[in-house]
Amino acid sequence: SGGNRMRIFNEQMRVSVHERIAAEKLLREALAGDREQTLPVWFQPIVRAESGEIVGAEALVRMRAADGSIIGPGHFVPAAEETGMIVQLGEHVLIMALRHLMEWRHDLGYISVNVSPRQLAEPDFVPLLADLLAANPELDPKRLVLEITETALLGSSVDVRERLETIKRLGVRIALDDFGTGYSSLTWLQNVPADVVKLDRSFVAGLSSDARKSSIIQAVLWLAKSLGMSAVAEGVEEEADRQALHSAGCELIQGYLFGKPMPPAEFSERIQRSRM
Ligand code: C2E
Ligand code: CA
Ligand code: CA
Repeated sequence: SGGNRMRIFNEQMRVSVHERIAAEKLLREALAGDREQTLPVWFQPIVRAESGEIVGAEALVRMRAADGSIIGPGHFVPAAEETGMIVQLGEHVLIMALRHLMEWRHDLGYISVNVSPRQLAEPDFVPLLADLLAANPELDPKRLVLEITETALLGSSVDVRERLETIKRLGVRIALDDFGTGYSSLTWLQNVPADVVKLDRSFVAGLSSDARKSSIIQAVLWLAKSLGMSAVAEGVEEEADRQALHSAGCELIQGYLFGKPMPPAEFSERIQRSRM
């Protein structure tokens, strides 16, 4: 009955609120602990579509629970955003990413780091970035890419465009994440001085057998190229999709076909092996 369904729905809601509160508590504890242990930053390869050669990596944060299990960002990044803890979390991820980029500087071109709208709006964000870059003078800032989503433009009191211009003046590159999933992608392209578009998995996966997806991808690649931007396709799981993207002129791709996000030690091994 309708009454029954209502009750089930409410129970699910309660679980989810409960989970949110639990996530918040875990995150607070993780931030107060040894962050390298409690909030490990993993890396997923970004490769050349043609050869599979690793050129970059996306840094993706995880949480390690007391029992050693690993919790994905989907379970705590939203709570981090809501509470503002994303600012500390993001700083930690940036520090770890730069540390590893320094370590891998001879074997890896760049590291891409996700930056949430809230972090971007923070007045201290640009000074933090400048300090971190100054602390690593051997690293060319263009080897750091900041991935931002369209929601950064919405409901923000700061002038996002201006902030991004300032970041670009530091030499850091900007990527538009999840491109194509928002409702104002073209406005976004027009207004934001980005260097890279990341084509969302939703229209990358299965593209080789879907003529509509393929047309959309080709058009977006053309658009990116005309605007002087490079493109990275996300969510490549099948060889046929790799081939289709390569034929369409997409040079860089990322996805389970080449590797899931992995701990730094494992990623290190991967890049050593791929050099041989
Ligand atoms: P995202 O930035 O779009 O990251 C890509 C997500 O897609 C990652 O999930 C990655 O593991 C997954 N993925 C990559 N290739 C494939 C594939 O071939 N197939 C499938 N099915 N999935 C693939 P993950 O690591 O769970 O991260 C989820 C989201 O959490 C990220 O989405 C990002 O929005 C957020 N996130 C992760 N780390 C951070 C961080 O340090 N800061 C912020 N602000 N957000 C983060
Ligand atoms: Ca991303
Ligand atoms: Ca993405």
